[in-house]
Amino acid sequence: MSEQTAGQAAEQQTVETARAAPAGAGGIAAGPVGLDDVAALDAAEAELDDLDAALRRLEAGTYGRCERCGDDMAAEQLARRPLARLCPRHAA
Ligand SMILES: [Zn+2]
Repeated sequence: MSEQTAGQAAEQQTVETARAAPAGAGGIAAGPVGLDDVAALDAAEAELDDLDAALRRLEAGTYGRCERCGDDMAAEQLARRPLARLCPRHAA
């Protein structure tokens, strides 16, 4: 019992340290736009493209099919990556 309490105390300390670390950094970068921001923007645009394509496939009734071979993708794969365009065979 006392061992568990000690563990919880240590965990609490870690949480407090982590919370204290970013103090002063604020949520929004104040400096000029960096490469990280450009990369994040690129990633967001790519995701938007995938989303757009998924919506068009939904409208066309081909959602969940590989764009390469037309095979139905496994429900498990779609649950993990709803915007997947290719089956595992062709995504690799
Ligand atoms: Zn395929």
